[in-house]
Parts: sequence; structure tokens; C-alpha cells
Amino acid sequence: MELAGKTALVTGGSRGIGRAIAKMLAARGAHVVINYNGSQEQAERTRTEIQAAGGSASLFQCSVADPEAVEEMIKQVAAEYKRLDILVNNAGITRDNLILKMTEKEFDEVLDTNLKGVFHTCKHAAKQMLRQKSGSIVNISSISGIMGNAGQTNYAASKAGVIGLTKSLARELASREIRVNAVAPGFIETEMTEKLPESAVEAGKAQIPFRRFGTVEEVAKVVCFLASEDASYLTGQVIQADGGMGM
Ligand code: NDP
Repeated sequence: MELAGKTALVTGGSRGIGRAIAKMLAARGAHVVINYNGSQEQAERTRTEIQAAGGSASLFQCSVADPEAVEEMIKQVAAEYKRLDILVNNAGITRDNLILKMTEKEFDEVLDTNLKGVFHTCKHAAKQMLRQKSGSIVNISSISGIMGNAGQTNYAASKAGVIGLTKSLARELASREIRVNAVAPGFIETEMTEKLPESAVEAGKAQIPFRRFGTVEEVAKVVCFLASEDASYLTGQVIQADGGMGM
């Protein structure tokens, strides 16, 4: 299997896109550390599903917005598995509101999780990857970070920030063969998009040349490609998995 012997950490692996990524990485042979914040039952379900399919997985609870907790998580992963080959920064939240109504708390919470969370994990993972002189980081951005989206000034800013961070870190780590790329999904069927009102779902589909939302597996396939040696000459890239929405 292409990822046999590799250790992967997926943040927000308890549900949605993160669960699909964790399951696909494990199916390709990696040991997957599933990070989650609040959804312990869902995280356990992801681990059980991976193990039932013959894969290997463990759990680590911590908020990616907590710098000390993230440092401890990466230290423990490195101590236990002796390496960290793949980091997928998938954890993310929304607190949508029009800017006139948006509170500072709503803005900060989204930035703290979606952007600073990526900073924390990358900082500590990079230390381990530099020691190994190898590694692949895949950051989950969003089409909102590229095109913008009314009601999502906080979210779009965080996801555009993830793209800037990805490209800058790719330049910092390239000399050690550590790759850093991003995936920018469009509308994907998850709990995040289930919260959207029907009118927003219809308006969303009308903007997508494929006229449908993507599946979590369609995003996971792109992440697994970037994480694997098949993408050995790719760094600093942003792949839009969006049914053509942002072309
Ligand atoms: P979900 O809301 O279904 O899942 C979010 C995941 O993030 C959960 O596993 C959650 O864990 C985790 N999470 C949230 N906050 C934290 C935190 N502070 N620390 C650790 N984990 C956390 O989201 P999706 O699966 O839809 O989205 C996954 C990623 O894809 C996000 O980054 C999102 O922005 C991005 N994306 C999604 C799109 C979509 O259409 N769904 C489109 C474009 C991008 P827990 O439940 O344990 O708290």
C-alpha cells in the first residue's frame, strides 16, 4: 500500500471531510491520528470504522486553537510513532454573519481555529519534519477564501490566510523536500453545509458548473494525492475541488 509505514495526523477527523480523509489515508496504509475537539463519539466512530476495515488509527483530543495543547499533541505523536509524515489541517468552523452584525467574538473564533490553528500545527509539525527531512502538509482552505462569500468575511479571511500561509511555508521548507499544499473545496455535503438554508443551497448549486455539491470522498481523494509521493514535484499549490465553481 502506497502509505504503508507512514504516520498521518488529521485535525478535525471526527466528522465530515476530516473523517473521509482519515479513512482514506488509513485505507492506503498510513497510521492515522484522528484529532478532534468536542465530538468524542464521532471520533471513536471514525476510529472503529478504520479498524473494522483493517486500518490503524488512534485519537487525540485537543483544540487546534490552543497552542500549548497542539505542541503537546505533536510531541506525543512524534514520541509514540517516531515520525510525522503527513499533516492534514482540516479542522474548521463557521460563524456566518453580515459584517454590520458580526461580533468581534465571531470574527476571532473563526480566525483562531481556521488560521491560527494551522499556524500552531504547522509550526510544531515542521520541527519534526525538518528532523526527518521529509513530510507533506495539506491545508484545507475553501473556495470562499478565493472568491469571497457574502456573510463570511471572517471565514473567507481565514481561508485566504491559509493560502498565504501554505505558499510561504512551502517556500520555507522546500529545501528539505517537505511539501506544503492546499485544497480549496467548493460546496461539499457535510454538517457544515446542512446548516445552510434551502435558498442558499439552490443559489450555491446554480454557481457550480456540475450543478451539484461534492462528496467528502471527492475531497479526500485530492488530499491523499497531495499527501502521497504521486505529488512529489508539487508544493505551494492550491487545488480547487469545487465542481468548476471557481474557474
Ligand atoms: P464539519 O463541521 O462537518 O467538521 C468540522 C471538523 O472540525 C470536526 O471534526 C470538528 O471536530 C473539527 N474542529 C472544529 N473546531 C476544532 C478545533 N478547535 N480543534 C480541533 N478540531 C476542530 O466541517 P466540514 O467537514 O464540512 O469541513 C472540514 C474543513 O473543510 C473545514 O476546514 C472547512 O472550513 C472546510 N471546507 C468545507 C466545505 C464544505 O462545503 N463542507 C467547503 C470548503 C471548505 P469536533 O466536532 O470534535 O469539534
